[in-house]
Amino acid sequence: MRKISVFGATGSVGESTFDLLMRQGGPEAFRTVALTGGRNAKRLAEQALALRAEIAVIADEAALPQLREALAGSGIVAAGGSAALAEAADRPADWVMSSIVGAAGLVPSLAALRHGGTLALANKESLVTAGPLLMQTARNHGARILPVDSEHSAAFQSLRGEKIETVETVTITASGGAFRDWPVERLATATVAEASVHPNWDMGQRITIDSASMFNKALEIIETREFFGIAPERIEVLVHPESLVHALVAFRDGCMIGHLGAPDMRHAIGYALNWPERAHLPVARLNLAEIGRLTFASPDPARYPALRIAREVMAAGGLTGAVFNAAKEAALDAFIAGHIRFTDMAPVVEETLARMMAMEGIGKPATSLDIVLQTDRAARRVANETMTEMCKV
Ligand code: NDP
Repeated sequence: MRKISVFGATGSVGESTFDLLMRQGGPEAFRTVALTGGRNAKRLAEQALALRAEIAVIADEAALPQLREALAGSGIVAAGGSAALAEAADRPADWVMSSIVGAAGLVPSLAALRHGGTLALANKESLVTAGPLLMQTARNHGARILPVDSEHSAAFQSLRGEKIETVETVTITASGGAFRDWPVERLATATVAEASVHPNWDMGQRITIDSASMFNKALEIIETREFFGIAPERIEVLVHPESLVHALVAFRDGCMIGHLGAPDMRHAIGYALNWPERAHLPVARLNLAEIGRLTFASPDPARYPALRIAREVMAAGGLTGAVFNAAKEAALDAFIAGHIRFTDMAPVVEETLARMMAMEGIGKPATSLDIVLQTDRAARRVANETMTEMCKV
């Protein structure tokens, strides 16, 4: 029986993963090693009972008594805090879903690879903050990474059986987010509630806001570079409001292979769960005659400055990906808390990058998890100082 773990089981990707695991036989088909959540102990306990997990870990230790009570008598170990999370990540599994949001997902991603299993990677921050380290760890341990971000799963599927050196470009699509049709001048007034509504995808709040700013797409450009090892100038972004074409790969013979599907994460998750087979998945089928037309446009650089910043990050290399992600997370926290405006996020990230790049060692590649985590902490500190100065927090 396949041994599986899900990190971030209570989130949007985690719930879709849980749904597929249950539909594909639940505890009769999978031996669940670890399930983890951030704060939602009630839901984590329900999932752990349904899948008969060995251990359930809640990151927020304040929620541990609730988890313990809900799992009492079940034989499932209940644990809390970051050390318990790392311990759960160290338990070998054949298939690990990494779907914690943010840089916190890096620890379980790396641990899964060290055990030589298959890492289903939704946590794009792992590749953005420590791409070369992650890929090298996978190579060293004979582990496999399967992308779960829909665009990367789409490009991966379009590349099946192809040689990467025959690729001219990989295009990832973007819906354009909540403010695609707003006048650019209005963006400064955008509220958290307005930014938290996605036109097509049902996702966690943070990635939804990142879609409105296209910081999500900026992370995905870097993720594309790290995962496929393709040069930055060969990676393109197209605004595609229908969110039905997820990626397009152009080859040197002039052909383009694209991937279409309903905007439902269970497709990419199900593909990673069943790879190299294709299983029946409970996702909507597309009726192209009814859809009628698909539209594409180049992203407006004034509306989406994050895309330009991502290219500067790739040009700088080294630890700048970790700085970029941490600064973005700090700026997003501040926007959600009502401390800065939507349009302050990009300047905060740029200024943090400029200050951090003046520091020694930032241009050097990440050689260990510790260095990445140290850089992450330093960048958050600098981002917060930057916001105090720039935005009068
Ligand atoms: P959610 O916010 O919905 O879920 C995040 C999960 O991580 C939850 O289980 C949450 O726990 C847990 N969590 C949050 N903070 C911490 C922490 N500090 N330590 C440990 N666990 C934590 O996020 P999404 O599911 O939307 O996204 C997850 C990842 O997948 C992100 O990296 C995102 O970019 C990526 N992704 C998401 C897609 C989507 O459709 N949602 C699409 C493609 C990629 P709890 O809820 O219990 O607090």
